[in-house]
Amino acid sequence: MSVQVASAARHVLPLFEPFIITSCPSCPLFLNRNVSSDRIAGMDEGRKISWHGRIISVQPRIKLTRSFDQRSHSYLGYNLRLAGTIGGEQREFAVAVGKAAHARYNFKAGDEVSGEAEPVADQRLETAEFYKASGIEVIAQGPGNSQPAVLSPPFLGVCPDLEVYRQRGHRRLDPRTYEGKCTNCIWGCRMTVEMIIDQWNPSQKRYRFETFCYGPKSCSFYKAGPTRKVPGRKGMSYTEEDWVDEDATSRRGGRTISRVMPIQGTFWLI
Ligand code: SF4
Repeated sequence: MSVQVASAARHVLPLFEPFIITSCPSCPLFLNRNVSSDRIAGMDEGRKISWHGRIISVQPRIKLTRSFDQRSHSYLGYNLRLAGTIGGEQREFAVAVGKAAHARYNFKAGDEVSGEAEPVADQRLETAEFYKASGIEVIAQGPGNSQPAVLSPPFLGVCPDLEVYRQRGHRRLDPRTYEGKCTNCIWGCRMTVEMIIDQWNPSQKRYRFETFCYGPKSCSFYKAGPTRKVPGRKGMSYTEEDWVDEDATSRRGGRTISRVMPIQGTFWLI
């Protein structure tokens, strides 16, 4: 028996797995902050800079706040990684955009896009180099379907709504696997992490980046990597064990779906 998912399948379908996404060559580029940080150091904070390029990848822009064994997420928007020109310089760069911009333009790898943006003021708080994007124009749509539609990782196409990421939950992803295989997958995410070291003195914070996967548990690229440790007060440390990931992804419902097929613009679970 067939069960219709919804015509706006990308907003519903990714809660289940497996699902289908459009294919595109793998690209090992994304968020090389060490290089970009040096480059943007000379740019004026608060000054809008023109950019133009082809999107290499789109990933969610999510901030993680940790306080020992507690954590919460802020769903800020998306990061576009582009190859093109920024402030007259030709190179790769990353621009953070908001939810509304993504909802309007449905960014995906291959699209040619332009706009303006500011250099990030505090680089501990963003994985992109530029934010506050404005004047965005999609000059040309990239090849491929605007619907998610690929059978093997890395999964491309249009990133789903941030609510889908929230509902799916994430598992930790080995940073080396992320860098090597997941930088252009819509389910990969390199998060800014703000750690409150002492809950009685919340101004005492540390920052770092962590990589996560929101994708299918069956993904052949997935590697968890070592468990993560969160520093606490008086030298204490909390280790985030595997059960945290299992719990975070347990809301996916446990439904077994054998196939997902696009039929006349509508995705069906079969
Ligand atoms: S491990 Fe996760 S992020 Fe990496 S390719 Fe697979 S689904 Fe995408």
